[in-house]
Amino acid sequence: MYSTPLYRPPSEARSLIIQVTEGCSHNKCRFCYMYKCKQFRIKSKEEIIEHINWLKQYDKNPERIFLADGNVLCLKTEKILDLLNYIKTEFPAAKRISSYSGPLDILRKSDEELRAIRKAGIELLYMGVESGSDNILALMLKGVNQAQMIEAGQKAIRAGFKLSCMIISGLGGTEYMHEHAVESAKVISAINPHYFSLLRLVVEEESELADDIKEGKLHLLTPLEVLDENIIMLENMELNNCIFRANHVSNHVNQAGTLNQDKDILVAKLKKLRDSGDFIPMEYDTL
Ligand code: SF4
Repeated sequence: MYSTPLYRPPSEARSLIIQVTEGCSHNKCRFCYMYKCKQFRIKSKEEIIEHINWLKQYDKNPERIFLADGNVLCLKTEKILDLLNYIKTEFPAAKRISSYSGPLDILRKSDEELRAIRKAGIELLYMGVESGSDNILALMLKGVNQAQMIEAGQKAIRAGFKLSCMIISGLGGTEYMHEHAVESAKVISAINPHYFSLLRLVVEEESELADDIKEGKLHLLTPLEVLDENIIMLENMELNNCIFRANHVSNHVNQAGTLNQDKDILVAKLKKLRDSGDFIPMEYDTL
């Protein structure tokens, strides 16, 4: 049985999802509604064993495993190592184990602890950077500033993890549009993750951000402004062999490439679309 709602990155669509925690230990980000209905808790080993036995009915030999819910790295290191040993015994064919990870959880672990977790089996971490702007990170209650975000990302890579970072287009509204683009490019460039995904802000009625917008504290970008923001962000990126995707259901324009190699082509395509006069996105977000 899973506790719902259950989330996983799009690239984990074929992975077996093992639910180790329920909810998010931070659970404060104003734009995020994912786990607002869940009280965060860490499952006991007995519960996880029972859960894995149940999962085996459906998939006995997964090659990819995703550990849910939010930030499994907030568990004590010994518990993570013990869990990974158990998972590898039960699923010997697993070639890749991955998890979401909050920047604070990475920062709280020592380099040695992170290396041990990597060696024990977690290969890929997904870290929501959301924005590189100190102002936006503070407004959204992300819990870290720009310098901490960069340190967390670099620390994960130093420990040997593959890292996937996400930025949310439009998160700073019209108020911080330029700052969001430039500072996010700065943070992603400083981290140089293996994967970089660009999503687009979709405001859910249940989120606290919806209240900010209704109160006029933040104004949503138009689709054309999102395009402009994407262009500025890409133009400011300095990356080495980073796989870039903007193919989430929230994106108005699908993009894929490797940065910086494909930067000029991607920017030229976005500019052509922006200047064409016939850019008609499928939806326009208003509250
Ligand atoms: S964005 Fe991530 S860290 Fe923030 S509340 Fe949502 S799941 Fe938790």
